[in-house]
Amino acid sequence: MLTAVDHVSIAVPRHRTVGLVGESGSGKSTLGRAVLRLTAAESGRVAFDGVDITRLGGRGLRPLRPRMHMIFQDPYSSLDPSWTVEDLVAEPLGAARKGASRAERRAAVVEALEHVGLSAAHLNRYAQQFSGGQRQRIAIARALVTRPDLVVCDEAVSALDVSTRSQIINLLEDLQRDFGLTYLFIAHDLALVRHVSDWIAVMYLGSIVEEGPAQRVYEEPAHPYTRSLLSAIPRLDPAERSRERIVLSGELPSPLAPPSGCRFRTRCPHAMEVCAAEVPPVVPAAGGGWSACHLNTGDGGAAAALDKSGA
Ligand code: SF4
Ligand code: MG
Repeated sequence: MLTAVDHVSIAVPRHRTVGLVGESGSGKSTLGRAVLRLTAAESGRVAFDGVDITRLGGRGLRPLRPRMHMIFQDPYSSLDPSWTVEDLVAEPLGAARKGASRAERRAAVVEALEHVGLSAAHLNRYAQQFSGGQRQRIAIARALVTRPDLVVCDEAVSALDVSTRSQIINLLEDLQRDFGLTYLFIAHDLALVRHVSDWIAVMYLGSIVEEGPAQRVYEEPAHPYTRSLLSAIPRLDPAERSRERIVLSGELPSPLAPPSGCRFRTRCPHAMEVCAAEVPPVVPAAGGGWSACHLNTGDGGAAAALDKSGA
C-alpha cells in the first residue's frame, strides 16, 4: 500500500501502523484523503495492494471502497444526528452487500457494534444520545462493518479526553490484531503518534521531512522540525526535562507559495544560505529511515563518517 502526493511518498505496510505527524495545515489530512482516493492526488501515484489506483474513476474504485475507510476527528459532525445507529453503521454496506437481506445487514451491524463494545440494544438510538467516546465507537463500527484492510484515522482521538482517548486507542489496537487492519494514523501530537505507530512520517507544508522507526524518530530526531515538535511535549522524566524548548518563529507559510529550497527555512533556527538555494537531499538516518536537511549532508556528514572510520 503506497501513495505519493506532490513530492510526498509514503508506504503503509500491511497490518502495521504508520503515524503521520505535523502541525495543522501541513497537509496531513489531504494526504490521508488522497490515500483513500477521496480526493484526486494532484501529482504522484496512489497504489493499493500493489495496484495503481491513481487514475481509477468511480466505477473502478467501487469494489475497493469497502476495503478502505476513514475515521474523522469529530464524532459530532461526522455522524448524522437524524440517523439511527443501525442506519449509520449499515450505510457502508450499501456498496459492499447489494442484495443482502435486512436480517443479514442487521446481523453484520450488530457484529460490528459488538466488536467496539456496543450491542443490539443500541440499534435504534441516535448518535446525539451518546458521549464523544461512544460516538467514536459508532464511527469505528461503521468503518469495520465492511471488513476493511486499510483504515485512515484522521485525528481520530484528538478531541477526546485523556481516559477516553486511551480506551479508544486500546480498542483500535485490539481491532488491528483481531482483523489484521492496516492504519495510517494522522495526528498533530507526536507523543500520541509514537505510542501507536511502528513507523512515523513527519510532514511540513505538504512535504515529508523525516521518516523512520517510531522509537528512532522520537528518541533521535534527525530533522530540526521534528526536534521542535518533540521539544513541545511535556516531559515527566526529569532527565529529559532539561531538553530545550524550541519555539518556532513565524507562521506556517502558504502551501500555495512555499519557500524556495527547504520549505522549513523561514522558521528553522539553523537556516543557512544553501537552505534557500537548494532543496535538501534525502539522507539516510542512523537507526533507520531518513531526513531531508542540509545539516545532515556535506562536511558535517563526511566528518562524522571519518570519525567512525577512526581516521
Ligand atoms: Fe533548517 Fe536548512 Fe535543514 Fe531546512 S535544510 S531544516 S532550513 S538547516
Ligand atoms: Mg487535518
